[in-house]
Parts: sequence; structure tokens; C-alpha cells
Amino acid sequence: VSLPPGLPSAAVVDLDAIAANVRVLRGLAPTAAVMAVVKADAYGHGLLPSARAALAGGASWLGTAQISEALQLRAAGITVPVLSWLTVPGDQFAAAIEHHVDIGVSAPWALAEIAAAARDQGRAARVQLKVDTGLNRNGCTLADWPQLVEDALKLQADGLVSVVGAFSHFVESDAPANPVNELQLAAFRAALEVAEQAGARFEVRHIANSAATLTNPDAHFDLVRPGLAVYGLDPAPGATGETGLRPAMTLLGRVSNVKAVPAGQGVSYGHTYVTSTDTEVAIVPLGYGDGIPRHASSAGPVQLAGHTFHIAGRVCMDQVVVDLAGEGVGRVREGDVAVLFGGAPGEPTAQDWALAAGTISYEIVTRLSARVPRLYI
Ligand code: PLP
Repeated sequence: VSLPPGLPSAAVVDLDAIAANVRVLRGLAPTAAVMAVVKADAYGHGLLPSARAALAGGASWLGTAQISEALQLRAAGITVPVLSWLTVPGDQFAAAIEHHVDIGVSAPWALAEIAAAARDQGRAARVQLKVDTGLNRNGCTLADWPQLVEDALKLQADGLVSVVGAFSHFVESDAPANPVNELQLAAFRAALEVAEQAGARFEVRHIANSAATLTNPDAHFDLVRPGLAVYGLDPAPGATGETGLRPAMTLLGRVSNVKAVPAGQGVSYGHTYVTSTDTEVAIVPLGYGDGIPRHASSAGPVQLAGHTFHIAGRVCMDQVVVDLAGEGVGRVREGDVAVLFGGAPGEPTAQDWALAAGTISYEIVTRLSARVPRLYI
């Protein structure tokens, strides 16, 4: 993985890795379809190239949070089923119906608005009902579920909606031994039974995100809904193990300066870091304006000349300073390429950055800003 001449930085995305990761996930959930989750610009990897790579790997559905994201897929000519699950009053329901986007429904207001849009369009909306089995986030409460199902089936009888799916989301699938997983599965099964007894006939029932896809076959149902694992990152410590999933993104920056700094000198704003020996520092042009978390100050790992060093002092808006003490002194030149994270053996990982910044790898890749070009290999 290389950085083309002249570029200060880039996130290089290996599309074959995305396709291969989806193949791995299909193998792990052989009885289920795979919905690749491509919300938030495919977790920072780039919506359209990532979506196409996931489809090449055998995903047969795509999932987004917002309808606008699904419409971007449609505008690019992608015709596979797409589900969007996070809507607000006044949302683009007419466009969703026109472009055959499945709409996740968590509340009665959404059914009412979708029905009105369907009437205007003269075509039934495809909806999937979301039940909250414990996350207490979006999704209909278990108490309100029978009514939501009944209302949806009435609209189906009127030809305004097709109730094609039911789904839920886990609280803590990254901790497979946590009993809340079993409780949620039981609640989901019970909710499905209530709906089926009321006459619902779902094409797809689903609850498994990446961690549950990897660790809990009981959660696979008709479809699995992985996001993070599609991009090759580990949703639960060790869950990717020997699966063959590999990180798709490598974040590179080109060294702009190398210079000597004596022992005992403060580095970067506030002098929160002080050199412990006579050393050299390398400046890498990636900062919080690029999405590098400032919380990773004096902690984020950077590989240069085959060795891993750490950021010295505060992450700035446009740059970080790397202390080359030890193996790096005399070995790093201006123009060299630093790896902040990647997937090759020995490279720092997005997970290392997450630990350094007190966050999760999801955030490390998703927050990379538009200033960092995404390059595809
Ligand atoms: N399903 C829903 C409803 C989600 O909100 C998300 C992401 O948060 C996912 C699936 C994918 O989750 P993960 O990236 O952990 O696989």
C-alpha cells in the first residue's frame, strides 16, 4: 500500500478486502443473506465503492441509517434491496417509496407518514418493523409492538404498505457471554411470534450485527446485518480470530519535516510531552481536522521505517509530531510515508488507535474527514 507522490495523506481502501470479508461473513452465516451496512459513508471507507465491493463479495442487501444514504445508492444505479432504519417526521418517504427503499418503522407516526406518501405515489411502501428488545434506542417498545403490527397489517390490507421484515438490534453482542444477548433473542422470538400470529409474513427477520454474526449462529435468522466486520475490523476482542477478515483501510501520511530536538524539550501545544533523550521528531500532516482524535495525544501509534513510534504531545489541527527516539533516529527522511493504521502484519491498527484515544475502532475510521482522500486499490 503506497501513497502517490505529492499527496500529504490518504486513506487507502482495499476493495478486494471488503469483498473477501463479505465472503467470510457469508461462510459464517451460510443460512442467512448478508446485508452490508454502509451507513456513514461506509464507516468512512466511501459509500459507493464500498457498497459495490460488498455486493461483489456476495452481499445481497445494503443497510443505511438515513434514507438520503439509500437514495445515493439508487442514484448510482444500485438496485439490490436497501433498508434505511433511522427516519424523522417529514423525511423523504415519497422518494424512498419511488426508489424501492425499505423503510424501518419504529413508531406510529412513521406508519402514518409512510401511508400518506404511498397514497400519493399510488404504490405500496416496503416497510420493516423494528422492535426494541432492550437497547432502549430506536425501535418500538415490546409493549407497543402488538399495536404497531396491527396498524401495519391494516395498511397492508389497504394496499399502502408491504410489511416485509422485522428486526431488532443488540445491546452488547460484543460480549457474547453477557446474558442480555439471550434475553434479547428470546424477546425478539416472542415479538416475531406475536406478529406472525397476527398475520404478518416476513421475508426477512434479522438482529445480528457484526459481533453476533461472528459469535452467535442462533442470532442469524434470515439475514445478518454486519457493518464493522465488512471493513475487516474486530467488533469484539478476538472475535475475528482466525476468520480471515482483514482491515480494508490503511491511513498514510507523508513526513513533512524531520529535525533534532534535545532532551528535556517540550513538544507541541502546551508542552504536555517532554523529550526524554536527545532525539529527532517527524512531522506528519494529519491532525484533528482530518479526524485524528485529539484524545490520542501522546499515545497514537505511527509506523515509520518499519518501527512503531508514538505521537509526541498534542494532536494539532493539521499535524502530529512523532518522537523517533531509539530506532527512528537517523532512519526517517522527509518524504517518507508513515502508517497510522492498516492491516499488514506489524502495522498499528484502528483498534490500537481506539485504545489510545479511549474510543472504539468504529469511530476511528468513520470520523476521518473529507480532507483525507480515499484511494481505492
Ligand atoms: N444494524 C443496525 C441497526 C445498526 O445501527 C448497526 C450499526 O450500528 C449495524 C447493524 C451494524 O453494526 P456493526 O457495525 O456492529 O456490525
